[in-house]
Amino acid sequence: MNLIFNKKSYSFKLSTKVENSKTTYLKKSGWIIKLKNNDKKIGFGEVAPLIKKDLKKCEEQLNMIPEYLELSNLSEQINIFHPCIQSAINSALAEINGKIIFKEKYYFDEIDKAAILLNPEDVISDLNEIKKRQSNIGKSVTIKWKVALKNNDEEEAILEEILSQIGNKIQLRIDANGSWGRKIANRWADILKDNKNLDWLEQPLCVDDIDGLTELNKKIPIALDESLLKFPTLIDEWKGWQIRRPSQENNPVKLLRELENKKALISISTSFETGIGRRWLYHLSSLQLQGSTPKVPGLAMNKFPNSFLFLNEAKNIWDQL
Ligand SMILES: [Mg+2]
Repeated sequence: MNLIFNKKSYSFKLSTKVENSKTTYLKKSGWIIKLKNNDKKIGFGEVAPLIKKDLKKCEEQLNMIPEYLELSNLSEQINIFHPCIQSAINSALAEINGKIIFKEKYYFDEIDKAAILLNPEDVISDLNEIKKRQSNIGKSVTIKWKVALKNNDEEEAILEEILSQIGNKIQLRIDANGSWGRKIANRWADILKDNKNLDWLEQPLCVDDIDGLTELNKKIPIALDESLLKFPTLIDEWKGWQIRRPSQENNPVKLLRELENKKALISISTSFETGIGRRWLYHLSSLQLQGSTPKVPGLAMNKFPNSFLFLNEAKNIWDQL
């Protein structure tokens, strides 16, 4: 099969910064790719590296891909590319081949449909604001708190305050982005181990400390995030929750199949994609919610600017870019 390959770069500023213990995101850059086959079928993909230093590598590799190519050549070459490029190409091919059929509309706009990121500067007033909105709609909501941004004593005091105010209609996720050592992680696990509000503790220890993470997972639910990106074989091995990012995995069709087969303990997360990559996030999140362990996705919904880049129709995004 012959394919025509095109790419366009994009860049946008997040509506407010997103801070975690390792980095601060203010803007996002990447590429939209388009593949067209002999039958004029079109598939779109998005190259959306989460780590800024990978942008240069992706740019160099994208420039190696010719405009006219053979599917067999592409399939041979693809393994040498950055996972985000592989993800984009495999996404576009899956769309061409009908392996994924997007719906016209997905429903993740309301506050109970995706996790709400707390503002780390003012966690408690944010929580109270969310509580008000939650009681207005009368449905459970999920909040996510990025920790290891302040000293631990201060954050443990905030945790106590959260736990005393949270009530029973709010679920809590805590993400340390790999910044704690075992001692602090165990302190938090002890505080939280019988807590009904907790969804999971996300990546409490550094990416490489799989033994430590495995031990902690016996005490409370631990979700791996960064470890899965560094060691993708953990996807088939880890026995706890997995934060999955379709745009960062070599082939999001694997994730699609896992969710179609109702694999449990998966939660979908954004890497700040445009509307092109977001189609996968929405589609996979919808499947996740129909599985045996439904949990709302992490989509950072209130962080995106008002722009054509976030339209629902992929072709409209491409044409205006
Ligand atoms: Mg995370």
